[in-house]
Amino acid sequence: MSRHLGLDVGGTNLKWAVIERDTEPRLLKTGILATETRAGERSVVRQLLDVARDVFADTEGIESVGVGMPGVLDPSAGVTRFIPNIPGVWDGVRVAGEMADAVGSPSHLINDARAFTLAEHGMGAGRGATSMLGVTLGTGVGGGLILNRHLFFGHEGTAGEFGHQTILPDGPRCNCGNHGCLEALARADAIAEACGQPGVEEAIAAARAGDARALRGFHDCGRYLGIGASNIVVLVGVERIVIGGGIAAAGELLLRPIREELQRRVRVTDVTRVKVACGELGIWAGAIGAALHASNN
Ligand SMILES: [Zn+2]
Repeated sequence: MSRHLGLDVGGTNLKWAVIERDTEPRLLKTGILATETRAGERSVVRQLLDVARDVFADTEGIESVGVGMPGVLDPSAGVTRFIPNIPGVWDGVRVAGEMADAVGSPSHLINDARAFTLAEHGMGAGRGATSMLGVTLGTGVGGGLILNRHLFFGHEGTAGEFGHQTILPDGPRCNCGNHGCLEALARADAIAEACGQPGVEEAIAAARAGDARALRGFHDCGRYLGIGASNIVVLVGVERIVIGGGIAAAGELLLRPIREELQRRVRVTDVTRVKVACGELGIWAGAIGAALHASNN
């Protein structure tokens, strides 16, 4: 039996989770607080280290720490590169090294969508799947790939960037610089705009009330997501697709067009056997996945 701490840092909240691993992993405790961004990256890192020290003081036997963050990271060096959604200058911040020094235990950095994927595969909607695509829908569109029951990292840890595949060759500009990325077509504000609503919550409410434009918006954005998912199914043959993040609350409004698009486009495998589901771990998936990542290293 071993215990591991995972922290999930976003622009709004910092969540943490302690897991216990025997044969099956199990969630021991969790916590959430507002991310301290007033002094940019220094205040975020200071808060991360403080939270970890507090959890270590209250919990016996924690062996390692995982930190999940959105954006571009160098996971093998434990250093951040580019994090557009948390205030601060993030290029070259030694998050894993500072954490290891602070708590005296091995520490690892992981992209938050990869952490989501690990968590849902290990303890959520992806349990038992040999291969799985994880998709996070929120401010951006993230992803992760499980192949042969393991998270696939690829060259420099960049595998699984589901949201930055090109869907429309001359589509809208993406935050990454490319045009027509899936993220530019299906992130939160793109969905809200397609639905003619100020935000995603309003868009979901409008669609559920039968608003024709909102229904059309979810159908169109779900279709783009389904095209992206079809490409992944054709390329690597995943047997399960798990959707998480804030917009996953839309449920069938998005899952239905994704399934329809898979059936329309995938010809190389029996796509009725590819299960598309929402995540089961809610807001804790990122922290749980960061802890699982630490426990795997
Ligand atoms: Zn992009």
